[in-house]
Amino acid sequence: MSESWSPGTRGAFVTEVYSAIQGEAALVGERQIFVRLAGCNIRCAYCDQPASLDKAPGPCRVEHSPGRRDWRTVASPVAPGALVASVARLWEALPHHSVSVTGGEPLVQASALAEILPLLADHGMPIQLETNGILGSALARLLPWLTYVSMDVKLDSVDGQEVALDRHARFLAAAVAAGRRVWVKVVVGAATSAEEVTTAARMVDDIDPGVELFLQPVTPFGAVVATPSPDQVLSFQDAALQVHRRVRVVPQTHRQIDQL
Ligand code: SF4
Repeated sequence: MSESWSPGTRGAFVTEVYSAIQGEAALVGERQIFVRLAGCNIRCAYCDQPASLDKAPGPCRVEHSPGRRDWRTVASPVAPGALVASVARLWEALPHHSVSVTGGEPLVQASALAEILPLLADHGMPIQLETNGILGSALARLLPWLTYVSMDVKLDSVDGQEVALDRHARFLAAAVAAGRRVWVKVVVGAATSAEEVTTAARMVDDIDPGVELFLQPVTPFGAVVATPSPDQVLSFQDAALQVHRRVRVVPQTHRQIDQL
């Protein structure tokens, strides 16, 4: 079902709110409520959310019943109270593991999240932040309300964004120091080298040997058409394990079972 859409005036730029199966990394298979924020500070070649890259007014689709895809359309930006009410309706209708705040890059909207996350936490919802692991000062504002931090380490060979590793290192160190459960996801591609993976894994290990590292073979999308070969995936895990003990390979499982 779709309702009339007219631009909102304040709040968070959000593109969708829905209940789904987490398909990546440490919480794979868990049922979560996803809040997808608009806007991103980079442009990865493989990005599968092209409609959520620009922080701009527009429609936001909101699922009414968990998993039923009975969408309503509201205006974005969405006021904090209305957004939290939409999440709470899904939360009360079905037991969920947690709320995934994703994007885009959610930390682009740190000010709006500083209003929204405390309201979600007041409902007893554990909050997972899915982030590209770059905007450390924005993370610091929001850490008090986060239970899980799923951060990316970007490899230039697959995303083409030349993100400096020391930015990821500072971000990871802050999340670890705050005592949050944090893990690192590295998307690897056909052009990725074992040396790149080693460098990323060593950075993680230097900060905390207990942090789990997830290697995610890229899912072809947009400009990316090739996946790493089976031998490459094994060699990437070998390279990471040489310098860090906790390394798992997990592809995007939600895409394999045709979920959102
Ligand atoms: S950081 Fe995420 S949302 Fe932003 S461009 Fe890369 S994959 Fe897309």
